[in-house]
Amino acid sequence: QNDLLSATGTTIFTVMSALANEHGAINLGQGFPDYDGPADVIHAAAAALLDGRNQYPPMSGAPELRQAVAAANKRFYGIEVDPNAEVVVTSGATEAITACLMAVLNPGDECVLIEPLYDTYLPVVKLLGAIPKLVRLTPPKWELPRAELAAAFGPKTKAILLNTPMNPTSKVFTSAELAFIADLVQRHDCYAVCDEVYEHLTFDGWKHIPLMTLPGMRERCMRVGSAGKTFSLTGWKIGYVTCDRSLAPNVTKAHQNLTFTTPPNLQRGVAVGLAKDDAYFESLSSSLQAKRDRLAAGLARLGFGVLPTQGSYFITTDFRPLGFNGDDVAFCRALTIEAKVTAIPVTAFYASADAPNHYARFAFCKGDAVIDAALARMEAWI
Ligand code: PMP
Ligand code: GLN
Repeated sequence: QNDLLSATGTTIFTVMSALANEHGAINLGQGFPDYDGPADVIHAAAAALLDGRNQYPPMSGAPELRQAVAAANKRFYGIEVDPNAEVVVTSGATEAITACLMAVLNPGDECVLIEPLYDTYLPVVKLLGAIPKLVRLTPPKWELPRAELAAAFGPKTKAILLNTPMNPTSKVFTSAELAFIADLVQRHDCYAVCDEVYEHLTFDGWKHIPLMTLPGMRERCMRVGSAGKTFSLTGWKIGYVTCDRSLAPNVTKAHQNLTFTTPPNLQRGVAVGLAKDDAYFESLSSSLQAKRDRLAAGLARLGFGVLPTQGSYFITTDFRPLGFNGDDVAFCRALTIEAKVTAIPVTAFYASADAPNHYARFAFCKGDAVIDAALARMEAWI
């Protein structure tokens, strides 16, 4: 059997959701909304299902969705995209990220990764025989250590994988940070895989800037989006890659060998979604911002150290002020079993055991009553 997979544990999201179910806990661990996505998007997919859109669509995606992805690039970021040659639809951003890494990495190539990192990145980089070069952001502000990042790039660097807005830190990279990264990518003549699944979920005036929009980066970036996040439909698993026409053939060939195609009926729904008016996208972020505020205020009241959340579904907290005796895994287990509220230990987003172990991540993409009930349970426990 494959040694790397044998050594890979079950994802923390599955582990903590199972523990939450076992103990009847309110699940603020795995990041999924407990409300449905927009009705017109769902109806469009349902109508397509009933209208015979049930056979293999074109490999790189239904033309209407590729056009919608290209139009969204133009509308939100001013990026001109050829829908026929520069968009690849995948079965979720998870597949898209894997396909982009496959598109550029050869065994022995180095890939720069930023910790804390989403849990699929490291196993996939290693499975491809590439060498991860890890750089840690500095908590609690999650600053980018520029000298260390520069030192992680070298003659063998083929790619950097950048996640902004970032899970689990909820950091939105600034234009200055992005310019620093863009300079490194160009100086080392490599590529950037850009996980931008939370692109529309930013708060307090923070704006997501795709690395692809920086000078010299259009040909070097593979930009990944997810309908799961943009339309609150995480089970749909529709992702999309935007990249230069020189990169798209390899991304498509990776997709060909991973899943080949992606459900056509759901693609129809997502095409309708991406064409929704600006008010939809504004209310998506403003309603999440209100949920963030509700949970952040409650956690602060309970005594947690609440780290800033600039985007995404998550609040990271420092639980040391509560006086808990144990690490983040022990804390999240106790919180689940005793308080009956589930959070995710942030060490799960690090490659090695010397990670900061006093942070717990809470998801706020939940109904207000659920957030309030979770806070009441924690108050009774603390
Ligand atoms: N990247 C990040 C940073 C995520 O948090 C997630 C989880 N939703 C994904 C990728 C995967 O997205 P999808 O469900 O579209 O595969
Ligand atoms: N992206 C989601 C999170 O960070 C979970 C996705 C998953 O369960 N793999 O919570």
